[in-house]
Amino acid sequence: MTSRNTPTRRHLLAELENTDRPVSAAELHQALVSAGLDVNKTTVYRQLDALVAEGLASELDLGEGIRRYELHHDNGEHAHFICTECGDVYCLPVDETVLARGCKEAEARGFAVTSCSLELRGVCSSCAAREAH
Ligand SMILES: [Zn+2]
Ligand SMILES: [Zn+2]
Repeated sequence: MTSRNTPTRRHLLAELENTDRPVSAAELHQALVSAGLDVNKTTVYRQLDALVAEGLASELDLGEGIRRYELHHDNGEHAHFICTECGDVYCLPVDETVLARGCKEAEARGFAVTSCSLELRGVCSSCAAREAH
């Protein structure tokens, strides 16, 4: 049963549109509850899975033990910066040829590439500013 245009789905898409960083399912659930929706986490996960299956959203596993979601970017693969202090994640544009070259190299060695991403870790500007005080 795929309900294509439920309030949950509309709100999820709006939340993903209104942010420029990948958000976790828990954050999305919280945002929907704050917006007054009576929705449980299972429904949120199911709707997110549907959005990913339809190619509207991308699922990210940045090794934090949680899944994050973002709208599928038309500009293709990009990099993510992960702050090791506050855990915030930011999208960064990168020269796609860097990633494409890595994929080609892997395929040349006979690896079947299913996803390709670039992660940068460090301290974000607001945490850096906090530490400076
Ligand atoms: Zn930070
Ligand atoms: Zn991103």
